[in-house]
Amino acid sequence: MLQQTQVKTTLPYFKNFLLHFPNLKSLAKSNEKKVLKLWEGLGYYRRARNLLATAKILVKEHDSKLPKKIIDLKKLPGIGDYTANALLAFVHNQPTIAIDGNVKRVFSRILNKRENEIDFNKLIETNRKSLFKTKRHSDFVESLMEFGALVCKPKEPLCFKCSLKNTCRYFKSDKKFKQLKKIKTKIKNYNVFCYIDKTKNKIALTKKHDLGFLDNFYLPPIKETTFQNKIKYWNFHSNFKNSISNKKLNINLYYRFCSKLPLQSQWFSLKENNEFIPTFTKKIFKQILDIT
Ligand code: SF4
Repeated sequence: MLQQTQVKTTLPYFKNFLLHFPNLKSLAKSNEKKVLKLWEGLGYYRRARNLLATAKILVKEHDSKLPKKIIDLKKLPGIGDYTANALLAFVHNQPTIAIDGNVKRVFSRILNKRENEIDFNKLIETNRKSLFKTKRHSDFVESLMEFGALVCKPKEPLCFKCSLKNTCRYFKSDKKFKQLKKIKTKIKNYNVFCYIDKTKNKIALTKKHDLGFLDNFYLPPIKETTFQNKIKYWNFHSNFKNSISNKKLNINLYYRFCSKLPLQSQWFSLKENNEFIPTFTKKIFKQILDIT
């Protein structure tokens, strides 16, 4: 849950999730519909699907235990290099480092080099002896991440308080390196088409859409476009910006009233649904409330 999501956003979801699934077996017995409903609003829904799939595999093939080898961990859905190393350190207390943004920044400052100039795996391998002197590998990984978040912060690092300042090249150097600027995500334009049954207060949603992500989730028909324009038979409602995961969207919202269900669609209430509805779709519900 914490991937790409802040702790304070995650906490209520996490607590609620544990109430429903107090252990691995109870999660493994569940289904996607249930898990997605509990995840509703947290975004990055692939995480929920992968978590469920991984729980099922662990119970079936690994006697409900987490593998101790990185090669086996990385075979599980949704577990890449970072998560595998984090799990090895946190769960099995193995000498390894999960390289996240914070850890990269700390190392790159200590060396006074840009992140793209450092081979982090090689760096860790070469310095294994000094890095893994402690037996508390789990605490070490956690502290490294926290150090990056609280002391060696992205902006204005607290160098004068820092216990590494005597060895840190960034602190000691007159020529401090500058990190490359992140490439800005390009905004994409989409037309969203809302078929609304006014008498029943319902909207037609489909899983067959052209968004290119949120696959298998219910959305109104949506098409990528390069402009906002009058469209025959459709009323223009509004324009709004939205971010989903790491994507930026400029949405032109169109609507029309109808009682016949469009092809490959399903009617959904604009107020309350038992079915999982992604946050993006809920935002559209809110936008069009004034015309229903
Ligand atoms: S001295 Fe400053 S830049 Fe160097 S590790 Fe400490 S906080 Fe980071």
